[in-house]
Amino acid sequence: MTKKCLVLGAGGFIGGHLVSRLKSMGYWVRGVDIKYHEHKKTDADEFIIADLRKYSSVDLVIDDTIDEVYQLAADMGGAEYIFSGLNDANVMHNSAIINLHVCDICSQKNIRKVFYSSSACMYPEHNQLDPDNPNCEESSAYPANPDSEYGWEKLFSERMYLAYHKNKGLNVRIARFHNIFGPYGTWKDGKEKAPAAICRKVAQAKNGDEIEIFGDGMQTRSFLYIEECLDGILKLMESDFIGPVNIGSDEMVTINQLCDIICEIANKSLTKKHIDGPLGVRGRNSDNRLIQEKLGWKPILPLKTGLKDLYLWIDGLIKCSCDEDITCIEHRPDYNYDDPYFDKPINPPSQSLNFL
Ligand code: NAD
Repeated sequence: MTKKCLVLGAGGFIGGHLVSRLKSMGYWVRGVDIKYHEHKKTDADEFIIADLRKYSSVDLVIDDTIDEVYQLAADMGGAEYIFSGLNDANVMHNSAIINLHVCDICSQKNIRKVFYSSSACMYPEHNQLDPDNPNCEESSAYPANPDSEYGWEKLFSERMYLAYHKNKGLNVRIARFHNIFGPYGTWKDGKEKAPAAICRKVAQAKNGDEIEIFGDGMQTRSFLYIEECLDGILKLMESDFIGPVNIGSDEMVTINQLCDIICEIANKSLTKKHIDGPLGVRGRNSDNRLIQEKLGWKPILPLKTGLKDLYLWIDGLIKCSCDEDITCIEHRPDYNYDDPYFDKPINPPSQSLNFL
């Protein structure tokens, strides 16, 4: 029988890509989100608009015909959203309540396997002060000291999924994502992350212009291309390893270097203007020893390859001043249809429901 998958947060960046990938593998997919995807038509067989903060909605969308649940729904955004402190109550309340419901209902309905998307933001701040030597080994999580409420909620929810595993036999898989990027994600208006924000600034700038970078740009991060993130999720789901495990790249760069790579892709020479802004930890990199050991796999795609895809997508959107990726696929000058790391155009869902 065809496997039935449920993607919660299917109207978001990673969830949208995951729906397409699961469909390409031949599964039946139901996508759920509080909104439709802003940048691509969904590939899901069925797309349900529902507010997962409501127990009754979660109870409706997780029915007992579902084999696997992928829980990606969260109230989240880039540094301006999660590190400014302005959205802490919503971030904690909204995401925690979704996870409370999802855990409980998956357990009641004996769902075969549940994936939970945690974040590297749960790692302790004191291990990420040295930009050259951050420690994000999975076992370094305790004593806990995340630098954001977003990170605390992730840690709480990880523990809740693990508690349901321990006490009620819920078959969970937990990944800690490290800065996932790629096309069809938020790229403007304050919720975007560094790669998309810098691609947008570079695309909008003229040769010789100045672009603004938060802080001194010496803070370090690693960035994982979306298709490799999906590879990691699926490998983890296939395995017997529960996690939590990092899914991230270990190609660490400073934000200044990230900016230089994007300028190189755009073939533009720009000056960086360093301004005050929310920064997050001083250094962060994915430690990939555990994923290599447990899954025999780790991401390998060079940062520049993925960034080129993101840059071309954003540059295309800006050039045709339209938010519709469907149109903008045509505006990617170097679009390579044979490249497995590019999205393929997709069909609308056969069924669309609204439970709001
Ligand atoms: P995203 O914001 O694009 O997707 C999250 C989706 O959840 C959104 O579409 C949003 O509408 C939906 N959602 C929020 N509240 C909801 C509600 N009440 N009911 C129904 N849907 C709701 O984020 P993303 O980048 O795709 O991230 C997916 C998951 O991975 C999130 O849990 C996030 O915390 C985690 N994560 C992402 C990254 C990253 O770099 N993108 C890094 C670490 C962890």
